[in-house]
Amino acid sequence: MDERWSRRLAARAEARRAEGLWRNRPTLAPDASLRDFAGNDYLGLAADPRLAEAQAEGARRFGAGARASHLVCGHLAIHETLEHRLAELTGRPRALLFSTGYMANLGTLQALCDRHTPVFQDRLNHASLLDGARLAGAPSRRFHHRDLDDLARLLARAPGDAPRLVASDGVFSMDGDTADIEGLAGTCRHHGAWLMIDDAHGLGVLGERGDGCVGRAHGPGDVPILVGTLGKALGSAGAFVAGSETLIEHLIQFARPYVYTTAQPPGVAAATLAALDILAAEPERRARLFDRIARFRREAATLGLPLAESTTPIQPILLGDNATVMRWAGRLHEAGLRVGAIRAPTVPRGEARLRITLSAAHDDEALDALLEGLDACRREVTP
Ligand SMILES: *Cc1c(COP(=O)(O)O)cnc(C)c1O
Repeated sequence: MDERWSRRLAARAEARRAEGLWRNRPTLAPDASLRDFAGNDYLGLAADPRLAEAQAEGARRFGAGARASHLVCGHLAIHETLEHRLAELTGRPRALLFSTGYMANLGTLQALCDRHTPVFQDRLNHASLLDGARLAGAPSRRFHHRDLDDLARLLARAPGDAPRLVASDGVFSMDGDTADIEGLAGTCRHHGAWLMIDDAHGLGVLGERGDGCVGRAHGPGDVPILVGTLGKALGSAGAFVAGSETLIEHLIQFARPYVYTTAQPPGVAAATLAALDILAAEPERRARLFDRIARFRREAATLGLPLAESTTPIQPILLGDNATVMRWAGRLHEAGLRVGAIRAPTVPRGEARLRITLSAAHDDEALDALLEGLDACRREVTP
């Protein structure tokens, strides 16, 4: 390796280790015996045999791969069917499939914005929203988390003639709290901005029918740009943008992360269709998830654990410093429990936390083990 490159890589690795921020990537064996409280499989669908069967059947019928991008010859009838189902679920005229949520956010912001289009972002927005504005060359203005007054102040200061866009997570991925959709929509209307909500963690969980924190409750007049992901509660992979005919056609024409990539494998689309059928047919899964959340919060509060204000499956334990988070996560790992150990730059410095996620698939024994493990950490591990 060239000397300059090896020096650069070594310096960056050393700085990251010195801050206690080095990340290790666990490799999971198929029979991984740890109980999972770190994933986003909120409805327990990722391992559902019906999704696996639909995926296999989709691959047998249409091929393992889509063969090309959507605009060339990769857009198959099963993608089209899935787009119709997603538009219907979210109450929008149209939906457009993307390969990942990261690409949906990049593509949407890049296609809509340029350096004259300020993007107003909640400070805790997902990295892909920030990166999308960068790809567009658009300036990001960050408003305080869930602070509508701060947003209104920033909007009022922006020049009036250029279009402007407000982007927010629907459910904040590291905090579990939700955006005030109605308040955001009102502020956007007042200041003539378009609102984009990334409902990655709300879709399948929140809303009357699992249609998310936006869904049918807040139509395209309130939220013209809705992003949902399919690899979390829906247990498969991919993402979509839902909105007007004009918006979707614009993305098809101009969103480079849509145009220049191979369409998702048809079996994946088939698995998502199976997941949507289960979402509609088995509302008890969502009821069970909310029962799990209520039990966890009740008993964790009794133990005096530093919970966040969250009513969603994302239940952070706010510990603060990196070393404590790593010690708690290590102790839980020894007890057979996997939780997320979240540090900067994913969250602001000094706000490190365990990210615990609950699922309809967790039985009472799993919750018992988690609460016992956390209680042991509280008693033994804190300095
Ligand atoms: C996970 C996530 C994404 C990215 O979705 P992928 O399909 O995993 O690429 C985007 N936004 C938010 C808020 C997320 O939590």
